[in-house]
Amino acid sequence: SVVDDTPATFEAFDLRPEILEGIQEAGFRAPSPIQQQAIPVILQGRDAIARAQTGTGKTAAFGLPAMNAVHRDSSEGVQVLVIVPTRELASQVSDELYRLGRCAGIRTVAVYGGQSIDRQVSLIRRGAQVVTATPGRLLDHLKSNRLKDFAPSIVILDEADEMLDMGFLDDIEEIFTYLPKERQTLLFSATLPSAIRQLSKKILTDPLSIDVTPKDSTVNTDITQRYYVLEEREREEALVRLIDTEAPNKALIFCRTKKETDMLCTTLVSRGYAASSLHGDMQQRQRNEAIESFKRGRIDLLIATDVAARGLDINDVTHVFNYHIPFDSDSYVHRIGRTGRAGRKGTAITLVTPLEFKKLTRIMHIAGSPMVYGEVPTIGEAKK
Ligand code: ADP
Ligand code: MG
Repeated sequence: SVVDDTPATFEAFDLRPEILEGIQEAGFRAPSPIQQQAIPVILQGRDAIARAQTGTGKTAAFGLPAMNAVHRDSSEGVQVLVIVPTRELASQVSDELYRLGRCAGIRTVAVYGGQSIDRQVSLIRRGAQVVTATPGRLLDHLKSNRLKDFAPSIVILDEADEMLDMGFLDDIEEIFTYLPKERQTLLFSATLPSAIRQLSKKILTDPLSIDVTPKDSTVNTDITQRYYVLEEREREEALVRLIDTEAPNKALIFCRTKKETDMLCTTLVSRGYAASSLHGDMQQRQRNEAIESFKRGRIDLLIATDVAARGLDINDVTHVFNYHIPFDSDSYVHRIGRTGRAGRKGTAITLVTPLEFKKLTRIMHIAGSPMVYGEVPTIGEAKK
């Protein structure tokens, strides 16, 4: 987890005073393990491939040293490019970078689909130094040559495993044909499947590998995992009872499809829960609203598809429910990584039918994490 009783301090790094000020403003007291390892390497200008569990502070691990290298002179143009898998992450990472770089006067822009092209281009031309973009929209800008003299000297692929999962490999390779050969490239990921290693050979030069993942597990140990075996027809009722007994502060509930997400949301709302859904068929504005309501606690249940909830960083999510089992172990790791963030404890609960159970054991094995079997509470045990 991010909170670690290591003696290292941010002051020990060779960071500019304005950057240190930003860290202080953000309330970060000590660097997390990935930050301790990555920051000095990146400050030296080396390429790196870095792996760390979800919620361990990867954004600041690349963001701080990258922004440390930004020149204030606005004629320099875009100096840092961060590529992220989803729109939500583009605005979230961009916000975090803005927060950390504000004292240094660094200008950041998020670039993603579903937003005005003209506005994005004009913000970039007016002197943005750090751009956080999704692959699709970025490639669109590059192909149509809207970004004049676009030559970032530091390029970061964030949540690289998720980008490949989402089918962005070709887009990413094409994006790199538009980028300067002379550059520092960093790849950050929670998991390192072989496709990532292959990509890294193409885009990184003599990279240093940084891996702070504990050997026995890719899953954050602050997360308690449980599973419940039930019949298909019991699924909805079991979820409701578990929500009542667990009484989550905030819970993310994962469904397989957009339709299932909407249906479950309607059911929960009609049963009196403050819930919203989040999926790719919703307008960007609706998606932002759902996330904002969840962050602010106006709703405490967010029902989402995998894609929509990727990388979401909401600190006080106490529970993740897998209403249906995810397709593979990586997506399991990512889903449950939405809880247990920044040193907090979290609970992940997976519902499976006897048929799905075999798949779950495979996921448990690959994810290398101990899961405990639970009994769905009977109605009488519910707290609400
Ligand atoms: P990851 O990308 O590894 O999943 P994030 O970069 O999204 O994780 O960080 C998770 C949360 O931890 C964010 O809210 C971030 O502001 C916070 N955080 C990052 N570094 C620190 C730190 N050194 N001390 C305290 N909080 C931190
Ligand atoms: Mg991240």
